Amino acid sequence: MNVHNSIVDAIGNTPLVKLNRVTKGIRGTVLAKVEYFNPGNSVKDRIAIRMIEDAEKRGDLKPGGTIIEGTSGNTGFGLALTAIAKGYKCIFTMADKQSKEKIDILRAVGAEVVVCPTNVAPDDPRSYYSVARKLNRDIPNSIYPNQYDNLSNREAHYDTTGPEIWRDTDGRITHFAASVGTGGTISGTSKFLKEQNPNLFTLGLDTYGSVFKKYKETGLFDPGEIYPYLTEGIGEDILPQNVDFSVIDQFIKVTDKDAAIMARRLSREEGLFVGWSCGTAVHGALEWAKDNLTDDDVLVILLPDHGTRYLAKIYNDTWMKDHGFLEDRSFKTARDIIR
Ligand code: PMP
Repeated sequence: MNVHNSIVDAIGNTPLVKLNRVTKGIRGTVLAKVEYFNPGNSVKDRIAIRMIEDAEKRGDLKPGGTIIEGTSGNTGFGLALTAIAKGYKCIFTMADKQSKEKIDILRAVGAEVVVCPTNVAPDDPRSYYSVARKLNRDIPNSIYPNQYDNLSNREAHYDTTGPEIWRDTDGRITHFAASVGTGGTISGTSKFLKEQNPNLFTLGLDTYGSVFKKYKETGLFDPGEIYPYLTEGIGEDILPQNVDFSVIDQFIKVTDKDAAIMARRLSREEGLFVGWSCGTAVHGALEWAKDNLTDDDVLVILLPDHGTRYLAKIYNDTWMKDHGFLEDRSFKTARDIIR
């Protein structure tokens, strides 16, 4: 029988899908690596299982153990699914600015969620980082994976995402693009692909309010680059250990608005119902491709997650208008016409 022994066996081997409409006017072939096909609907399933299995191998996590992470979203969901398959408990600490849906999703798959105040410094004992560390110290047989600095993160992509892309393009990929948060996706995937083809070009997509682009260009960590932004899962005010700047050739920044509009276009024009940072990746990569891609080039853009988590935000027209992201007031719905 062709069966999976548990849901975690269904992680990876996500499809590459050609983009046909949003790429109008761009030369070469543009393919999307659609990570919402993972069981937790995001790229983060890959690192969840890897961080857990590496902790098992080191002997840090034994049967009946507890996984503790400060996370609001995709990584938590991936850890929770893997924990179910392997018989572990999960406790997630989350800042209270996070939406109720995110807490409900994690609780739905059996995780315990501890809600902590948002407006305290990271080293305050009440912050979600500090509470996670304290729980890890006090609960025996528990691990705190720390996706930012745990190199199992980028190794998961070196071992799975990179080889899958190389295999599925028959080695014809010439350019790779991904949005950057912990840096694990882009660093592990790009390292593998550059080892196969040293001429491969890797583009990192950053957001306004994050430090990566400036750091790549100047080698300086500039606190002036740090300010609030809305896109979730990408951009940082720290330099995580998982970002390997040596395998990222260039960074481009994308606004919250351009990312939101492109995510909506991917849903409506390509049938790819994707998350906000997928819009970041595609908008930035296509802007770059306009001037740089040639007919024989094959660009792969990684799309990290699914659109459901963003229904109340970028897929809600009222929310979009309130944020000044939908300016076309001439747009009429059937309801406007009946009225
Ligand atoms: N987009 C989303 C929605 C994410 O959750 C993440 C993970 N933080 C990323 C992009 C970036 O991936 P990485 O952490 O591997 O850089």
